[in-house]
Order: sequence, then C-alpha cells, then structure tokens
Amino acid sequence: MPPESIPIHLLEESPRDECGVVGVTGMEGAAEKVFLALYALQHRGQESAGICAVNQGEARLHKRLGLVAEVFDADVLDALPGTTALGHVRYSTAGGGQLANAQPIMVQYSEGDLAIAHNGNLTNAHDIRKRLVQEGAIFQTDSDSEVVIHLMARSRHETVEGQIDDALTYLEGAFSLIISVGETLYAVRDPRGFRPLVLGRKGSGYMVASESCALDIIGAEFVRDIYPGEVLRLHGSEIKPLRSLEPAARQAPCIFELVYFARPDSNVFGQSVDRARRAFGRQLAREHPVEADAVLAVPDSANSAALGFSEESQIPFELGLLRNHYVGRTFIRPSQADRDFSARVKYAPVREVLEGKRVVVVDDSLVRGTTSGSLVNIIREAGASEVHLRIASPPVRFPCYYGIDMPTKEELMGHRFSIPDIESRLGVDSLGYLSLEGMVEAVEDTGPFCTACFSGEYQAPLVDLEKGLVDPGDARCC
Ligand code: SF4
Repeated sequence: MPPESIPIHLLEESPRDECGVVGVTGMEGAAEKVFLALYALQHRGQESAGICAVNQGEARLHKRLGLVAEVFDADVLDALPGTTALGHVRYSTAGGGQLANAQPIMVQYSEGDLAIAHNGNLTNAHDIRKRLVQEGAIFQTDSDSEVVIHLMARSRHETVEGQIDDALTYLEGAFSLIISVGETLYAVRDPRGFRPLVLGRKGSGYMVASESCALDIIGAEFVRDIYPGEVLRLHGSEIKPLRSLEPAARQAPCIFELVYFARPDSNVFGQSVDRARRAFGRQLAREHPVEADAVLAVPDSANSAALGFSEESQIPFELGLLRNHYVGRTFIRPSQADRDFSARVKYAPVREVLEGKRVVVVDDSLVRGTTSGSLVNIIREAGASEVHLRIASPPVRFPCYYGIDMPTKEELMGHRFSIPDIESRLGVDSLGYLSLEGMVEAVEDTGPFCTACFSGEYQAPLVDLEKGLVDPGDARCC
C-alpha cells in the first residue's frame, strides 16, 4: 500500500467486527467444512484467516493475512487432510495485524499438537503475561490468546481436561475458545457468555462455531448454544460436557452482536438476530415517531431494524440506498477524496426513490458519526426534502473491553455531543436513538445482556486497565 493511501474499510464508522471461530470433528474433509464455515463468518474478521487440520494425530496449519477466499484454494485444502479441524477469521486492532498474530495458534504440546482459536478479549491478559514472562515464559505473538497455552503448559494436572480447567480459572473477560489437542476438540465459553458459540451436528460429526450461519452453509443442524461457562469435549462422533466454570452471578452476552455484529440469518444467544433487530426497529418507531414518505435502511446491517420501523410506523420501506459490496480492499488517496468520498464509494442513492421525499433513515448504531454525516449529504443531493435519522440502539458512549474494537471515548459521537449538537453536525431534520430500556425490553426474555458501551456498566473486571497495563483506548481483541 502506498504510504499516502488509506484502505477504505479503515474509514468506516462502525465498530469493527472482531473474530470468528469454528471447529469440526468426525467429518471427512474437515478442513473444507471449516473453510466454508469461515466463508460464512467472514463478516467477523477480514484481516487474516487460518485452518488447522488434524490427521492421525498430526496437525497441519495454514494461515495468512487476507480474506478467506484469498488465503485458501483447492490445493491448500487438499494439503489439510483429516476429520478434525478448527479455523479462525480475525480482525486485529492497530499494530496487531501481523501474521504472527493470525490464528489458530499452533504449538507442540506434551500431549500432542495443540491449536487454539479465540474470539473475545481477556481483560487480564497483560497481567498474566507479565507474570509468566517474569517467570521465564517466551511468547511467539502479541495476542492475548497465547496466555491460555502457557497456562495449560504450566498446569501440574496430569490430564488435558485438568490442564484446560486450571488455565481457565485464571482468565477474566470474554472468551469463546476452540482448542484442539490431537484429534480432540474442546469448546469453551466464558462464564458471562460475552461472545456467542453454537453447537451443530452433521451426520455423526459435530461442529462448533461463532454463529449458526456457519452451520447452515455445510448443512449442519443447529443443536444449541454452548452455555456460558460450559466446557465441551468433542472427539469424532462423541460429545461430552466437562466440568463447567463457575457460572457468573450475572451473565452478559454482548447486545451489540444483536445490534450489528452477527449476521441477520444467524441464531445466537438463543434467538434470531433478524427478529431481535426488527424488534429494535419497532420499538424505535414507537419511541420516535415521525411523519415521512419512506423508510430507508443503511444497508446491510440496518435492513432488519428498518423493516421493523416500517412495520410499526406503516411508512413504506424503500430501497433508497444501495451498498457496493466490493470496496473492502479498495484504497483511496486523501488528496483525491472529497469529504464524503468514502461514503460515496460504499453507498449509492436511488434518485428515483428519494426525489422530493421525506425520508426516515434507519441505522444500527452511531459511533464516530463520520459516515452518517456523509450519507445525509448524499441523500439530500439525491433530492430528499427531509432527512430524519433513527438509530436502532442507544448512544455509544463508552469503549468495549470485551473483544470489540471501538474508538476511544473521545472519538465517540455519543460521548462528545448532545443530541441537538449531533442533529446539527449531521445536518438532519431530526434524530432519535432507541432508549437503553427500550432495547433491553425488546429482547428481555433472553437477557440479561452486556450493555457497557451504552451504559458504562462493565460486567467483568478490567484488570489490565485498572493496573495501568493498557491504555484506556486500547481495546484489544482475540
Ligand atoms: Fe458488546 Fe458493548 Fe458489552 Fe462490548 S461493551 S461486549 S460491544 S455490549
């Protein structure tokens, strides 16, 4: 990349998707199944992709920077034989995008080859790492996930199950983990259940994955969520729940998965993502009604919420904005770019729909607000007479320390400005956010949830932050 160019996805305003994990046992061509599943999970991370497959006890790993389709081809998959495999797609925070941090991480372990794939963020990883380094440990990566391997290796327990159990007792924060030791997989979800992890079955084999859309692509049947605190052992066609971690007094699945991260066709945290988003949209319409001619979505993540808004308000849903799906790795030079250029590359207005219309634009969230301002300009230029912005989540005011790469507090529009200020900065005729109570009520039968980026109520201790081992704005991920 020339130094004066910026990858256009870095100009996006949304918080970045983090990581996706998948594991398969007891299926012929396991690596190919994992490849397809990673394809379905690509929205969770676009920086690197990796698969580790195990054949007769021998593990082989292939991982590279890039999209799943760029990292794997038929020859690579043919070189990954076996009936057990695990895979990972990753989005890294700034400075952490080198290949060494791509996952799965694989090591030679006392009990055979070991590989690990992690979605989440350990909020005490720096603290653990510091102590391990002082005691002589040598790390291969900057990734917080590697501490799990070191903790297992230091356990005095004789069985792998016991070693995993020992390691897990040290961890704080968010972790959905898949660990392979030889041809056995272990699937683990932290006691608060921050990140999703689902179990599926195909034939006599099993699959675990971040979202159910990864099961659908290989025709696996959804069985259930892995429970918060649960540790499952999967070997061939056998499945065995191991001793669970002590369940947290209050569970905290990430409500932002429902707002934005997960795919709408997925089922996570025991519910349909599409249904949750429609419920947010309906509640938003009740809380912030407006007279308008058309409801538009900021595609694609706000489509379901906009449909919900339209259903409740009886204002017709129109395709007024199109999204270009091919810009992910496009580069622009700032010298060529006008203020709205990155939004123009990504979104196109449908003039015939917008001309002379009063429109309600529904977006899933407002983070920095940069893209939203540009979108309003684009919609007005296409002839809309009024633009009313409705946000299907509350103002994002606090950073996430549980595995989502949010900007610092100072960069968050909801933290910096009042609603009238935001209205005038974005140039909208009106602005309405879904209330925190309204959001939680819309999904309350499946709660409670983590809402810390909206409420500031952090559910797991922020050990590294409190000990001054990370910057307040440093939200590291998997
Ligand atoms: Fe999800 Fe926000 Fe909680 Fe992070 S702080 S886990 S993004 S709800």
